[in-house]
Amino acid sequence: MESIPVHPLPGDAHPTGHGWWRRPDGRVIVLSAVLALAAVGVQCIWLRDGFPALTRDGLAVGLLTAAFALCERFLVVFPVRRGSHSISLSEIPLVLGLIAVPPEHLALARVLGGALGLVLLRRQSGSKLGFNLSLYAVEASVASLAFAVVAGPAGQLGPRGWLGAFIATLLANVLSIVLVTAAIALHDDAGAWRALLRSDLRRDPQLLMVAVTTSLALVTGLVVHADTRAGVLLGVLALAAYAAFRRYAQQTQGHAQVEALYHFTKALDGFLDQAEVTRIVLAGVRDLVRAESAELIVCVREDASVLRVQMYGQDQVRTGHAPLPRVGWWLPAQAGTPVLRPAGTAQLPDGSFVDGMAVPLAIGHATWAVLLVSGSLPDIPTFDGQHLRLLQALANHAGVALTNVHLVDRLRHIGLHDPVTDLPNRRQFQLDIEAALAEPAGTAAVFLLDLDRFQEVNDALGHDTGDGLLGEIGDRVRAHVAGRGSVARLGGDEFAVLLPGISLREAAVDAADLLRQVVEQPVPVSGLALTTQASVGVALAPAHGKDANRLLQRADVAMYAAKRDRSGVRVYRPEDDQNSHRRLALIADLRDAVHRGALRVAYQPQVDPGTGRVLGAEALSRWPHPSGPVPPDRFIPLAERCGLIRALTLNVLESALLACQGWRASGYELAVAVNLSPHSFDDAALTDQVATLLAKTGVPAGALTLEITENGVMDNPAQSAATLHALRALGVTLSIDDFGTGHSSLGRLADLPIQEIKIDKSFVRGLTHDRGRRAVTGTAIQLAHTLDLTVVAEGVEDISEYEYLRDHGCDRVQGYYTCRPLPPEQLIIWLRNMS
Ligand code: C2E
Ligand code: CA
Ligand code: CA
Repeated sequence: MESIPVHPLPGDAHPTGHGWWRRPDGRVIVLSAVLALAAVGVQCIWLRDGFPALTRDGLAVGLLTAAFALCERFLVVFPVRRGSHSISLSEIPLVLGLIAVPPEHLALARVLGGALGLVLLRRQSGSKLGFNLSLYAVEASVASLAFAVVAGPAGQLGPRGWLGAFIATLLANVLSIVLVTAAIALHDDAGAWRALLRSDLRRDPQLLMVAVTTSLALVTGLVVHADTRAGVLLGVLALAAYAAFRRYAQQTQGHAQVEALYHFTKALDGFLDQAEVTRIVLAGVRDLVRAESAELIVCVREDASVLRVQMYGQDQVRTGHAPLPRVGWWLPAQAGTPVLRPAGTAQLPDGSFVDGMAVPLAIGHATWAVLLVSGSLPDIPTFDGQHLRLLQALANHAGVALTNVHLVDRLRHIGLHDPVTDLPNRRQFQLDIEAALAEPAGTAAVFLLDLDRFQEVNDALGHDTGDGLLGEIGDRVRAHVAGRGSVARLGGDEFAVLLPGISLREAAVDAADLLRQVVEQPVPVSGLALTTQASVGVALAPAHGKDANRLLQRADVAMYAAKRDRSGVRVYRPEDDQNSHRRLALIADLRDAVHRGALRVAYQPQVDPGTGRVLGAEALSRWPHPSGPVPPDRFIPLAERCGLIRALTLNVLESALLACQGWRASGYELAVAVNLSPHSFDDAALTDQVATLLAKTGVPAGALTLEITENGVMDNPAQSAATLHALRALGVTLSIDDFGTGHSSLGRLADLPIQEIKIDKSFVRGLTHDRGRRAVTGTAIQLAHTLDLTVVAEGVEDISEYEYLRDHGCDRVQGYYTCRPLPPEQLIIWLRNMS
């Protein structure tokens, strides 16, 4: 259990991960490719006769290209509901091109001119550039097609030709609106379609502007026919139209911004929860300034880490503490200067370069805070001065709202306190120790208390009960120590007490005994009187250390020694370090074993209790250590703590899939289940690795089950949901392991893409003579079946449990009754005997 309820920024990598086509950019690239293909498809109508030589209208194509390029400079941006449409004068060259040059040449000029304008004048690159160019190609091709159909093959500029031009430009514009909306929806904003449908097209200035520019172009076409020099007149008229539309756009934009700001402040009003307010701020900012991601960075203390809250994708939020970045395009905003970065200069966490803006904001007692956005959405050219002013206005409102919810005070408190007991955390406790050592006497005793059977309480009665117990014990110890020292919760079931002024061993032992008595009094929780036992380790200053870390470490060593010899209380002795050396040696051995692939895997069959058929087997890690096997309950947590779990998981996964391949080759159509630790679960590479191993072994994805514990999933639901969906997309079966021991309801789990639950063995064992366990198991089976989930019962040890589960519709059973976990070669023998 972490003391700070936030998730780390995982190496600040971009959160999307997995296959590139599933990333927002990837989806837009796919759309662009489809559009490009469509354009080529339409062009094939004309290209059958070969590409017309450029000799005759080389000059016209050159002029059109230049005109298309120039259009990127003269844009009018209209706000439309949540976003904005940008409109250019490109209908003018489009219509002239329809009249004057063959379709292939028009498409060439459109794409070439567009590319020049977008790259040189708008500094676009990457997927955005690609999308716009394929959009232009499709527009030009469809317009040519419509013009050819309506105006007839002669393409004479009579009324039919005018109608053809109008239909062509209208079609091109509607197409553009739809495709841009599609790009935004694919990119990250599923609400884009709804916004488009809600917007009132009659009031959309885009259509009016299309009508004006198309007429302009047609008139010019006619006039230029008579006198080429009249083309200059078109230039004048076009600029006049541009100026008028621009003025109009600025006016509407002003209105729209005031309206948007009003809605933004109203949305912020009345919320007391700082997480909610932060969410509203980021969502509002992202929508209003049309950005891919919005981020709030808050510094609470100069020396400490900063808090970063980022919203991206489909309103995903990532929160974490990070060290103060030394470089960053947004850093000037920290000192109070707004930053506007054009496309290609601001860097996203994933390393890609986009446009960005950052502004300072004032929040309560924060040292400083910055609001930043990066990556303009495809529907606006890029961020400009207008957007920057809007962002600053939003930041001002956000600052007030965040001050009102005491964000900073809460952050400071959260940073130094444990959420369950509200006691100081390790960091605050270290500060307390340092303060005590700085006193003239400089003597103190540091006590580390560890509850001996806490895990059992948690497992048997659930986390809520466990948390209640911790809260009560925390209160008692605090009352006991009141005024004489300080109490902290260091995490899990570990408490620490600091008593300044104690330097003698005997006095420390007496104080520790008293602490134990306080902790071991029965605690009434959920109608039960729970008793726990504690082991206490003591370190004395200055005898055992002169700084907080050394004292805490030695108290920890003493506490482990007390736990091991069950003595209850132990004051640190140098020889205790030896045992902690043993632990370190075990870690070293484990590291070696994982890297050499020396861990083994045992397989425990799962059978259908109705038919007795073997359906699959669960892979369980085994470590045959030279001085006797180490149980997985011991080495898995060790592997998790020292960063070996990912490698271990991959090894098990590979062994399991190879074994499964072997069974299937021998004619046993079995599935295999592999346990995933929550620590390997937040690994972005996991999905790709699973896919690779499936491909390598040829085992169908449907024959692989991944088991995850519900706490593993619920500790970080957003990240978990993303990983689960990605794994599910591979076709893998997902199972919730140890079901019933966590604190989430089946209803909440059912929102996740899971197909199976495994009822924990603590409910299965003794099932037949314990009503409580029967009730849990029975209800879980029924509920799971209404949710279309398969139910597996594990830890089935005797025939009565087996028959009970069979009669109550359990789909699969696993346990010593059918078979113990076996090495792969013995499993094959067992399978043969069974069939
Ligand atoms: P688990 O996933 O709940 O695995 C089932 C455990 O119950 C196994 O213990 C199995 O040997 C034991 N078991 C099976 N049938 C019975 C029975 O009838 N009665 C009783 N009392 N127990 C039975 P094991 O192999 O010691 O594994 C313990 C735990 O270690 C596993 O619990 C799992 O959480 C973890 N673990 C094992 N291998 C791996 C692994 O490769 N990766 C990860 N992340 N965790 C693993
Ligand atoms: Ca399992
Ligand atoms: Ca289990």
